[in-house]
Amino acid sequence: MNRPSLHDLERGVPFVDRHVGPRPAELDRMLAVIGADSLDAVAATAVPDSIQDREPVASTLPPAATEAEALAELRALAARNTVTVPMIGLGYSGTITPPVILRNVLENPAWYTAYTPYQPEISQGRLEALLAFQTAVADLTGLPVAGASLLDEATAAAEAMTLLRRAGRAKSPRFVVDADTLPQTLEVLHTRAAPLGIELVVTDLSGGLPEGELFGLLLSYPGASGEVRDPSALIAEAHERGALVAVAADLLALTLLTPPGELGADAVLGTTQRFGVPLGFGGPHAAYLSVAQKYARQLPGRLVGLSRDADGNPALRLALQTREQHIRREKATSNICTAQVLLAVVAACYAAYHGPDGLRRIAERTHRMAAVLAAGLREGGVEVVHGAFFDTVQVRVPGRAEAIADAAHDRGIALRRIDADTLGISTSELTTVAHLEAVWAAFGVPADAAALDAATDDALPADLLRTSEYLTHPTFHEHRSETAMMRWLRRLADADLALDRTMIPLGSCTMKLNAAAEMEPITWPAFADLHPFAPAADATGSLQMIEDLERWLAELTGYAAVSVQPNAGSQGEFAGLLAIAAYHRSRGESHRDVCLIPASAHGTNAASAVMAGLRVVVVATAPTGDVDLDDLHAKIAEHGPSLAALMITYPSTHGVFETQVREVCDAVHAAGGQVYVDGANLNALVGLARPGAFGGDVSHLNLHKTFCIPHGGGGPGVGPVAVAEHLVPFLPGRGEVGAVSAAPHGSPGVLPIPWMFLRMMGTDGLRRATLTALVAANYVAARLREHYPVLYTGAGGLVAHECILDLRGITKDTGVTVDDVAKRLADYGIHAPTMSFPVAGTLMVEPTESEDLAEIDRFVDAMIGIKAEIDRVAAGEWPVEDNPLRNAPHTAACLVDKWDHPYPRDLAAYPLGGTPGVHDRKVWPPVRRIDGAHGDRNLVCSCPPVEAFA
Ligand SMILES: *Cc1c(COP(=O)(O)O)cnc(C)c1O
Repeated sequence: MNRPSLHDLERGVPFVDRHVGPRPAELDRMLAVIGADSLDAVAATAVPDSIQDREPVASTLPPAATEAEALAELRALAARNTVTVPMIGLGYSGTITPPVILRNVLENPAWYTAYTPYQPEISQGRLEALLAFQTAVADLTGLPVAGASLLDEATAAAEAMTLLRRAGRAKSPRFVVDADTLPQTLEVLHTRAAPLGIELVVTDLSGGLPEGELFGLLLSYPGASGEVRDPSALIAEAHERGALVAVAADLLALTLLTPPGELGADAVLGTTQRFGVPLGFGGPHAAYLSVAQKYARQLPGRLVGLSRDADGNPALRLALQTREQHIRREKATSNICTAQVLLAVVAACYAAYHGPDGLRRIAERTHRMAAVLAAGLREGGVEVVHGAFFDTVQVRVPGRAEAIADAAHDRGIALRRIDADTLGISTSELTTVAHLEAVWAAFGVPADAAALDAATDDALPADLLRTSEYLTHPTFHEHRSETAMMRWLRRLADADLALDRTMIPLGSCTMKLNAAAEMEPITWPAFADLHPFAPAADATGSLQMIEDLERWLAELTGYAAVSVQPNAGSQGEFAGLLAIAAYHRSRGESHRDVCLIPASAHGTNAASAVMAGLRVVVVATAPTGDVDLDDLHAKIAEHGPSLAALMITYPSTHGVFETQVREVCDAVHAAGGQVYVDGANLNALVGLARPGAFGGDVSHLNLHKTFCIPHGGGGPGVGPVAVAEHLVPFLPGRGEVGAVSAAPHGSPGVLPIPWMFLRMMGTDGLRRATLTALVAANYVAARLREHYPVLYTGAGGLVAHECILDLRGITKDTGVTVDDVAKRLADYGIHAPTMSFPVAGTLMVEPTESEDLAEIDRFVDAMIGIKAEIDRVAAGEWPVEDNPLRNAPHTAACLVDKWDHPYPRDLAAYPLGGTPGVHDRKVWPPVRRIDGAHGDRNLVCSCPPVEAFA
């Protein structure tokens, strides 16, 4: 009888059938359009022999598990973690994610599947949330310009350090840092300073600044020890000596303390983790950086600004340096690309939900708990080191620190073990009187909280108490009931086009399915509530998950080892290049400092190379789009003994499998250089070929592209660095090379996502996904080729996982630009592809394996519809300046206004008439096309006064 076995029935639908969009019959239709018989035939034609694995690859990745099985396995790992009450401090605090925010943002695909808001007309919702983030940071820190998040506090400190150096006039290479700075911040500062020739002077500043010149100063407020000192005198002294000053500050403390901006700081930085973002064993969390107005243009990362749309209405967009690495490359202010947008949104919502009075109350609770805790300890004869503190009490207990910390741990509380004689105890929004009593008990101190409370003053310096207002904007007052918050979040999400409404065919960014089974575990308390510096014995489940993931990724890429520490692709690049530089140094070849980078490379490559202390030399692109081999050989000959590395992206940023990649790698190796393969395009390779096997010495991967971590509207990201055997000692944070992130494992809070993905796909599923992605890209190319030229192709006329549609000829002939096409797609309810990268005037399309044929066809049909509209412009039927493309996107409001355009309103709103999938999925952009230049000229990057909207 032809029926499935009991075993098959029991297993149900394999996850790969959920992850991969096209059904078998659809795939056959797609294959027919591209003229191939099977997935394997596509692989055989498109993927060069020279890079394909010749033998099956040994793998410890187990066969695919079902969703239920994988969740059960991961749950068992989670159960091995021990979550304690986090009183370790060190920049990571207990916090409560308000359930309305947990559910409606963190667990809501409308928020987590959004892309970076490069198309602002369909991103007004997250831009509004990010503007609230910037406003909260600016208000609390007392400096007017804050960006829309950095990766973590330690890297934010490093960004502040380089900002002060760029912005200041001092020529000195010295950067003075208060010894009372978080240890992980100090480590990252060391890693980042060395290659740039910055001399770090870490010193006790209680007696004033050290002798000698300096360009900048970093203070902590409060310090890592918890002590609150008035930074004004040091700031003034630094300014007198021509240096600029950054202050690392705790945002919650700033609701009670005078903000550093009012005390003269030039920049303020820190984390917003304690604004409702789960600990997650270290991340992801949004860091912040705010600066004085005159340094606005120096700010790294993304900045949301107010501008106006074509009808003169206020509208938000990314301001200034939006894609500055792509434009400025090795001259960029920083390599930051993906940031921590989703977590910044959570923090902004937390600020809006609690409002200024709510935040102040949380701060008061936190502070009072610490003050009463300290009083009880003092009364019990324990030496409390500092008199002024916000939430952290440092105590000296000669010889007893371990025993006391163990006793606290037995009571379910984790303290900071500083040394044999010293402990740190930090309070938070989570701290209760019962926790205080448990801590007192661990110290063997009897204490009565109520009596102590009555008898104990605050421990904040009286002359540092905050007097200025903050969060006065209505945003921080109008969403204080849960109903109001829920509706605000829904309204914002509805303004945006995320993956839950349309495919986002972004070349180079791989916007694929972020499956619910992958997402579910990230908010399990056993993962979410783990402190990054919890004792290893409390984190065995998470550590096992990380080890599995690192091993699986190493196998899939053909490398010896992987570190998940880097918090984005950019940080993986930096770590990988540091490994290369350290390797050369270890062989007495520190003179090797030239990094060859093809002209078409992602902008972060050049920016990262500069951060790693390398000199960027550009290699030309041949007319085929491949690396120009003659130019490569010439550059190698020219720089031979100085050659440190070549960074290439594979498949190329042009979306093509270059056949000569082995030859390129060999040439670099022969000259003593190392090969860095940018693995952000791994979606075309997983299961087919491994960069570590075809010539790479190091790669970074983007888990937020190929491995399903959602884009979050511009982060979180995870950019693991993968290295060959000889570079293993040079992985970040393992001795030879310092840490590149604050937390030892970067952002473990989102690592369940790729773990689940790999566990549910298995090697066969991964290979099927990759091949399906290749078919989808080639299908798009095949269907659109007669309407738009496809710029580059490889063997057999095939592209890899993405294709570039060349609009330059169309623009030249008709005046219709890529911008016009991208904005018109919004009228069709579809998110635009990548615009003008890697080639200006083109669109790069990456459908991924997750989109089914109907959705891909919806996109293709829209593009064909747009081409027909372009043809009408070309034919002179509509003027170049007044047609549905140039006027796109159209809001409902503009249609009901007076109408004097040469095309009808229904065509503006419903471009393909009654076409199903377009007509019935109509999306109304909330604003018309936004005037970018206006916003840059009139920079407004915090919530505008309400009158602006009148
Ligand atoms: C996305 C991308 C990067 C940068 O990754 P981030 O996580 O945004 O820092 C680098 N190289 C390529 C080719 C990319 O597509």
